[in-house]
Parts: sequence; structure tokens; C-alpha cells
Amino acid sequence: MTEPEDLSHDRLKHHFAQRVIHQARQVLEVWQRLQQREWNSADMAELHEANLRLLRYAGRFEQAEHARLASDIDRSLQAVLANNSRLSSHLISELSQVMQRLSRTGLRHGDQLEQTFLPPLRKPVYLALLDHERAERLTRQMESFGVIAQPLANAAAFQAALAERLPAAVVMDVDFSGPDCGLKLAETLQQSLEHKLPLLFYSQEEADTPTRLAAVRAGAKEFYSGNLDASSLIERIEVLTHVAQYDPYRVLVIDDSRAQATHTERVLNSAGIITRSLTGPIRAMDELAEFQPDLIILDMYMPDCSGTELAKVIRQHERYVSVPIIYLSAEDDLSKQLDAMSEAGDDFLTKPIKPRHLIATVRTRAARARSLKARMVRDSLTGLYNHTHTLQLLEDATSRSRRDGKPLSFAMLDIDHFKKVNDSYGHPMGDRVIKSLALFLKQRLRKTDQIGRYGGEEFAVVLPDTDATGAARLLDEIRRRFAEIHYPAHPADLSCTFSCGIAERVDGVDGAALAKRADEALYAAKHGGRNRVNVHQD
Ligand code: GH3
Ligand code: MG
Ligand code: MG
Repeated sequence: MTEPEDLSHDRLKHHFAQRVIHQARQVLEVWQRLQQREWNSADMAELHEANLRLLRYAGRFEQAEHARLASDIDRSLQAVLANNSRLSSHLISELSQVMQRLSRTGLRHGDQLEQTFLPPLRKPVYLALLDHERAERLTRQMESFGVIAQPLANAAAFQAALAERLPAAVVMDVDFSGPDCGLKLAETLQQSLEHKLPLLFYSQEEADTPTRLAAVRAGAKEFYSGNLDASSLIERIEVLTHVAQYDPYRVLVIDDSRAQATHTERVLNSAGIITRSLTGPIRAMDELAEFQPDLIILDMYMPDCSGTELAKVIRQHERYVSVPIIYLSAEDDLSKQLDAMSEAGDDFLTKPIKPRHLIATVRTRAARARSLKARMVRDSLTGLYNHTHTLQLLEDATSRSRRDGKPLSFAMLDIDHFKKVNDSYGHPMGDRVIKSLALFLKQRLRKTDQIGRYGGEEFAVVLPDTDATGAARLLDEIRRRFAEIHYPAHPADLSCTFSCGIAERVDGVDGAALAKRADEALYAAKHGGRNRVNVHQD
């Protein structure tokens, strides 16, 4: 049988478009390398070249979004060149923003935009499951999260698929194609590969320790039994395939010597770290609130106040108790250094300091601070911001919106009749639905939107630069898509809906009042019949 001509033409186009994606990945990889070391001219040349190739492919294969991003990258790179091949804070943020957009860009295939929202997990996930119906169902669910899954019917199909293309990950039934055969198949596969594939095992029945042990030996990263749900699977696969996006570190430098401050900034910029500097303590608190640094580098001796004094002032603010403070000074008297650190600092570096030493110290401290902060401000079930932090973020966004004269919307979501989910399907199923909505929001909203778990089955989203109409459109699309997700369950699959209230900031309304308005709009949505988005009317 011959295919209709336009279909095969379409396929061909799709095939070529994959080259664009592949090239986009190359660009991202060179960029990410910067996060492990310092910037040099060879990296710069490599990035430039990879990006030019992307620009060319995107043009040839008509991927407009990629073409636009590649030319933005090119413009930034030209600016770096014009700046003696030196990165500046401004250029780092610009590049990092466009790289982030690049990593989330899908393919335009026909009229439809594929996988628009997911980071670059471009390869399929192979599903080698005993229960074919389950595999088909899982494939459809994963599709609604923008992940391509491929169900495979038997060992031969599995081998054939592998020969054609290596997947992002494999979900393997321990008994795939015969008792314990899945385990053996996986083991043989891993042995033949130089880079091991992320392997997730599944067993319909609760597995015993020897089985689990065999799975570990075959390279299992995870072992599921009983129900398999798409969202926890995807979440795990995303972690395993390292697609988490890098966000440059931000460092505030306070030093009365402009020359010293500039020097410190340059060193950090060369490692892809964004900086700002102040030559006096007066504006320090404003700058902290505005810039939200991951770390502060403080000069020990300044004319207006000492570094330790300023550090103490910073520490008086609840919000900054955990921001690392590193003193930088010519002081090499150890006892004075220890005194300074016992006051409020975390580390002490002596001038002159080797660039590599400074960069390594900043990276390590900032990474640790970020992971601690993430634990403090995030909800453990979903990884979203917790209630307190969400309100804090809303407050910050409100002042930014007032200052910049840009719109701001706040949305509150609440899952409909959630009590019934718990009552009929059990609490673990309820948790699963909560987690899946969290993941769904993370995937479908922009990186600049901040998502919080507001309460049990309530979520909140801060949408900067978005008016109520835009926010309503976005959330309504999410509402429709979320309602399409089916959670496998007995006796029947489960699907859920949510209601949403939206309020836009207007003059004279602070964060708390905005939250109240969104809540009122949500209440009205519930009373209007649920499964709807409602905008607060003045
Ligand atoms: P409505 O459509 O009016 O929102 O009805 P509802 O049943 O969703 O609303 P209600 O606020 O009465 O019930 C929310 C339920 O959510 C009650 C609580 O047991 C459950 N819940 C809250 N947090 C969690 C959680 O973390 N996990 C699970 N499984 N259930 C939770
Ligand atoms: Mg509720
Ligand atoms: Mg509810």
C-alpha cells in the first residue's frame, strides 16, 4: 500500500526538522559547559559555530521559532565579541533567557506545535510492558504531558526499536516476554551499551527482594509495582535525563573600591555568574530585595561601615538569614578572620585571590544555599513553592509591576470535588492527582510564572506581565487539557477538573488584596458550577 503523498512528505519534513532539534541541543550543551568552568575563546567560537548551523537548519527546514531564537543568540554573541569576548551580567542574563526558551521550543509539524512545553526530552520513552492495554493507555497519558512514549509488543519489537533509535529511558516489565525475561533483556541491553540507559522496572505484583536485587544489578533506577502513573514516571525520567534547566547564579558585590568590585565582577562573569555591585552600604537592602542574589561578597573594610556591621544588618532580615556572605579582604590575620566569621559571615577570602578559587567558592556556596532554600520554600509533595513563599513572591511581583507599569495577574486553582477522590479511590490516589496537576502546571506555564501549592488541593500562580484576559486564556487551556487526563484506577479510570479564579493588579491593591480578589473569583467559579475559569470583576 502506498501512503498518500502529502503524508510521506510530511514525514520527511518531520525527519528533517529533527535535525533542527538536534542542533538546538548541541547549542545548549556548549552553553551548559560554561556552568562547569570558565569561559574561553574556544568555547565562544564553538558556541558561535553551533548556533550558526542552527540558524541555517532552522531556515532551511522552516522552523520559525528556532530561527528567531538562533538569531537572538547570534545577536548576543556579536555583543560579546564587541565586548572583547567578555561576558557581562547583562549578556549572561540575555543569553540564559534565550537558551531557556530554546530548551523549551517544540517542533512545528504541519499546523500543530509539538511538545511545546517540555524541556529537551526529544527522544521517546520505550514502554516494554506485559499488559499492552496499560502500555497504550500510558502512552496516551504521557502524550498529554508532551512526552513521546512508544509501546512495544514483544522482545523482537523492542530489539528492532533499539536498533533504530536509542530512547531517553526504558520502562521495563520484569516479566516482559516471559517470566523474568524483562530482567534478562535489560541486562543484556545495558552490557552492550557504552552509556547506560535510564532503566525503570515495573512489576504488576509486589516484587520480592531477589527480583528487586536482580533489577538493581540490571541497572534499575527505579522500581514500580501495582499502578503506574504517567506523571510520577515523567517526573522521574526528567530527573534521570538531566533536563533540569540551569539558572545562572547571582552575586552581589559590595566593595568601596570600584576597581576591586569591577575586578571581582569580571572574574565571576567569565564563569557565567550574574553580578551587581555597590560601593557603599546605603543601598544594600534595596539592592538585595531587587536583585535577589544567591550570595553576597562583602569587603571587610569600608569607610561608612565595616563588612561585619553590614552583614549583621543583613542578617536581621528574616528573608536573608540563609544567604551566604563571603568576606573579601586583604586581612590575613587568622584571628580577625575568625572573629569576622563568627559575627555573620560564612567564609573569608584573602586578596589577592586566584580567579579559580573565587569561582569555585562562589559556585559551591551558592549551590548549597540554593538547595537549602529550595527545601525551606518548597512543598515536599509537589516541589512547588509553599503558601508563605508564594505570598512573598506575589508581594515582590506586585511592587515590580507597580514600578514598571506592567500588568500582573494572580490565579488561584482548586481541584473540584476532591474529597470524593480521596473517599472513593483512597488518599494515595489523591496525592497522585495533586502531584500530577503540579507537574502539569510546571510544564505548561512560562518559566517566569511562579507556581505555588497554596493549600491541600489548592494552587496559586503569579503571572507577571500578563493581564487578566491573557491569564484567563492560558489557564482555561490548562483547565481543558487537565480534564482530559485519565488516571488508571478501578473500577473505572478517574479524571479530575479544577476551578480557577483570576485577579489582575490595579492601583491601590497590594499583594494580600490581590490574593483576596483571586480567592473571591475562585469562590464564584465554584458556585457557578465548577470546572471553569473566572476573572474577578471590580
Ligand atoms: P470543591 O469542589 O468545593 O473544592 O470540593 P472539594 O471536595 O475539593 O473541597 P474541600 O475543600 O471540601 O475538600 C478538599 C479535600 O482535599 C479535603 C482534604 O481531605 C483533601 N486534601 C487536602 N490536602 C490533601 C493532600 O495532600 N492529599 C490528599 N490526598 N488529599 C488532600
Ligand atoms: Mg479546597
Ligand atoms: Mg476542592
